Amino acid sequence: MNKQELYQIACSMIHHKKLRRFGTAGHVACALETHNGNVFTGICIDLPCSIGLCAEQSAIVEMVKNNETAIKTIIAVFEDGSILPPCGKCREFITQIDDRNVQTQIVLPELKEVLLQDLLPERWDNQWN
Ligand SMILES: [Zn+2]
Repeated sequence: MNKQELYQIACSMIHHKKLRRFGTAGHVACALETHNGNVFTGICIDLPCSIGLCAEQSAIVEMVKNNETAIKTIIAVFEDGSILPPCGKCREFITQIDDRNVQTQIVLPELKEVLLQDLLPERWDNQWN
């Protein structure tokens, strides 16, 4: 699957929902492709008091639920169609799910790609490798 197809899948998951009080969901969506060629998707959930879940984390939960951990490519899309780089927590989350994920292709704005390891230099956990 190419990154344009993955982008389209992520866009198809965008559906902004209002939740209780100021809570919202679905204004960011994620699609990831595993090394086995399967695609998993997720959406964000934002609740008051900074409680929530990024779309990337939600897609990763779906992947792990299906007994996979190695991500080939991942993309997150905002409701206006723009591509969002993963936040710091998601970069760390992706890395810690599977050692192979330092090689995950992160899709950036304008469909540029970068390896996750290039977004996370000077690893804090190298002493345990
Ligand atoms: Zn995040």
